[in-house]
Amino acid sequence: MIKVPAAREFSALEKNYLFTEVRRKTQKFLTENGGEVINLGVGDVAFPLPPVVVEAMVKATLEMGDNARFKGYPPEGGYPFLKEAIAGRYLKRGVKIDADEIFIGDGAKSDTSSFPDIFGRADVLITDPVYPVYADSSVLRGNRVTFVRGNKQNRFLPSPRGVEKKPYLIFLCSPNNPSGAAYGHDGLKEWVDFALETGSALLFDAAYSAFAGVGVPSSVFEIDGARECCAEFGSFSKSAGFTGLRCSWTVVPKELKCRKSQVSALWKRRQSVKFNGVSYVIQRAAEAALSERGITECGPAVEIYKKNAAAFTAFFKARGIWHTGGELSPYVWIECPKNLSSVEFFNGLLSGCRVVGTPGSGFGKAGEGFFRFSGFATENAAAEAVRRFERSDLFR
Ligand code: PLP
Repeated sequence: MIKVPAAREFSALEKNYLFTEVRRKTQKFLTENGGEVINLGVGDVAFPLPPVVVEAMVKATLEMGDNARFKGYPPEGGYPFLKEAIAGRYLKRGVKIDADEIFIGDGAKSDTSSFPDIFGRADVLITDPVYPVYADSSVLRGNRVTFVRGNKQNRFLPSPRGVEKKPYLIFLCSPNNPSGAAYGHDGLKEWVDFALETGSALLFDAAYSAFAGVGVPSSVFEIDGARECCAEFGSFSKSAGFTGLRCSWTVVPKELKCRKSQVSALWKRRQSVKFNGVSYVIQRAAEAALSERGITECGPAVEIYKKNAAAFTAFFKARGIWHTGGELSPYVWIECPKNLSSVEFFNGLLSGCRVVGTPGSGFGKAGEGFFRFSGFATENAAAEAVRRFERSDLFR
């Protein structure tokens, strides 16, 4: 037995990561009952990579086997061709980001959880409910977490009004996982203004920006003042089916400064210590996803996920079940019918409909009594899920 103690912070974490627990319960149900379930629980994509992405990977792989074109370690922070493609993506949305403000990573999970490494011990402000990684990684780092609660009154878009004014690391995710709610320009501006006023860093997770529609900022940098206080995380996972390939980016604007240091310089230094980059093949694949052909080929899957979410929403609306999301997001968030707890509803849905969703309580205290359905499914699976909901007593 080794005598080095485990990090104390582990004892403050929940025993199991939420999705691991959902998987365990689903597996147990299948072992005991046999048959199949429709999985609307984990937010993994349902369709394979588009041909343009596969072709780019094949081409890049052949280069890697060629003496003249082989590439070793990628440049720190990513290849210029991908950074420029990402900068071009922002420009199309009217946001000017320089390629050297973009850092390529292997997923928004790694990027959002690692970024606070560059700051000292800090108070962390997190909206609740939200993607659990922000709170878990903050707890592991030993940072103190304050939650701003979402609820039916604020339609799960909490504002910083009433929050003690001091410097925080603020995590914000819009369109939000799990609530599917998305801040409009004014709502997001309130957060940016709060960050500017308090000297906070606003870490904006735009993993679902591909789902944001008209009238909803798809980047925090659409808001005045954001370049002085924000960093933004983007991901190819949900927009281009990269959950298994792994590629993401972080935007750190030149104006973002922490005392005398430029935050981008700190992030570059941190990455050079702990990360050796994303492979050339994957970066070429990501570049292809952003090409004109890539946009054409990636779009249909995103549209199907949105349509699925809209089909769930239509059902809940017809049944008078309180919900958010489902329009600007792949997720629909409902209040559990019959006053059931999140876990009771999960169990009822699994045994009654053979449908897996995600208990809201897994996303934070404010998620108790709520439930998340994911539109990441084929159209047939989503339609069959709705048919099962229609037959079920759970929604009557
Ligand atoms: N951020 C949010 C809000 C998510 O919901 C997820 C995944 O579900 C991620 C980040 C992880 O993204 P990636 O696959 O790029 O690590």
